[in-house]
Amino acid sequence: MTRRVAIIGAGPSGLAQLHAFEQARAAGADVPELVCFEKQSDWGGLWNYTWRSGLDEHGDPCHGSMYRYLWSNGPKECLEFADYTFEEHFGRPIPSFPPRAVLEDYILGRAKKSGVRRHIRFDTAVRWVDHDPQSDTFRLTVEDLEQGVSRDEEFDHVIVATGHFSIPNVPSYPGFEQFPGRILHSHDFRDSQEFTGKDILVVGSSYSAEDIALQTRKYGAKSVTISYRSAAMGFPWPEGIDEVPGIDRVEGRTVTFVDGTTRDVDAIILCTGYRHHFPFVATPLRLVTANVLYPPDLYKGIFWTANPKMMYLSMQDQYYTFTMFDAEAWYARDVVLGRITLPGRAEMDADIAAWRAREAALDGPMDDIDFQADHIADLLAAVDYPAFDLDLTREQFKTWEHHKTESIVGYRDRAFSSPCTGTPAPIHHTAWWEALDDSLPTFLDQRETTSAS
Ligand SMILES: Cc1cc2nc3c(=O)[nH]c(=O)nc-3n(C[C@H](O)[C@H](O)[C@H](O)COP(=O)(O)OP(=O)(O)OC[C@H]3O[C@@H](n4cnc5c(N)ncnc54)[C@H](O)[C@@H]3O)c2cc1C
Repeated sequence: MTRRVAIIGAGPSGLAQLHAFEQARAAGADVPELVCFEKQSDWGGLWNYTWRSGLDEHGDPCHGSMYRYLWSNGPKECLEFADYTFEEHFGRPIPSFPPRAVLEDYILGRAKKSGVRRHIRFDTAVRWVDHDPQSDTFRLTVEDLEQGVSRDEEFDHVIVATGHFSIPNVPSYPGFEQFPGRILHSHDFRDSQEFTGKDILVVGSSYSAEDIALQTRKYGAKSVTISYRSAAMGFPWPEGIDEVPGIDRVEGRTVTFVDGTTRDVDAIILCTGYRHHFPFVATPLRLVTANVLYPPDLYKGIFWTANPKMMYLSMQDQYYTFTMFDAEAWYARDVVLGRITLPGRAEMDADIAAWRAREAALDGPMDDIDFQADHIADLLAAVDYPAFDLDLTREQFKTWEHHKTESIVGYRDRAFSSPCTGTPAPIHHTAWWEALDDSLPTFLDQRETTSAS
């Protein structure tokens, strides 16, 4: 009987998985039947921008967390597909920090080229995944959201690629109930222009807080106060942005911080992170983890040790993104195809424990970058993913960290060289802080470009 593989989600990870299988098929492998379930009506995951927030058109929690004017916050060179370079897609080198629409175009370009769309069932949500020990198969309950019809299907392998930046972690503080302005989580943030002329409080100290503080100020917020809980980000903020400690209470529109200082604000944006949330997975198969670099119970960061035919992709906190998703997808594919044999449970548990012990001893972003690069290298050593200069990307990420410390509004104006082709990127024609138009045609129009040094 034909084996069946369910892939849940058609974002970058799910598409990487489909593409990996298609590459093997093109090379003559006997590939099982692939069915990718995607609850949205189109592919691209978070990169498929939606104006919606709260609930989607089917009454489900809206998946999208991206916002207008989002530009890549890391060098594109550190996420380049080794088998489909930016130069191949765009026909020439492009700058290192593209806006969302440009990266979406790139992701979808590879997926179109390898013809994976035929495997995807859109507007179809997976509602339940369970394992039947008798038949050693997984039963999935899936709902056709257009027809409102549910049915069960059996699969031999399940690969969860539903992402983990969609279900918000939402704290509350005394006085929130009476706050006269808008309080929202970054998951629901869509357009900075909503906050033009306003005094904003951004709560948090990670990527979202950093970027939304800059965004809102760039598009005309009067002032942005960032409230951190444990440590300030400490970047050289432009005039109009500053950092204060945690919130103590809110009275009217006056926020008092734990150091006793106060600010009057018009809106509060909670950039307080996301939860790994898999309500559609039966408890014995369900990953429970915080946002860490090496989640528990996943061998190689992928295989659910209690039942390794159940897999999760890209559940790590992410420095690396598409490169890591590809490495995981290739490895998962080769286990499904029988090219790689997994060790027994004890060996898997010991391997995870060693990685997690190393993670516990990491000391800051430079260590984190090496750790995640090592995870990728570990996977790539076992698969036939095309060669590229992974060590160059480690250095690029570290340089990027230094650039951010030098200029948080200027780091996107730097350029890096491709780890796949060696070609240096051009520098974008307009400084990011001045570039209000993030459309793909404007970005690609590089006539006034100067070359990277
Ligand atoms: C605001 C923001 C900015 C970011 N910026 C960058 C950046 O600049 N560069 C970068 O590299 N990364 C960035 N990321 C990281 C991002 O996580 C990855 O780039 C990437 O989108 C992760 O891909 P994924 O496929 O794992 O998950 P997602 O992109 O989240 O895709 C998951 C897919 O699964 C589907 N799905 C979920 N549940 C179900 C279900 N039950 N049934 C069927 N389908 C389901 C969803 O509809 C979605 O299409 C950003 C993330 C956020 C939130």
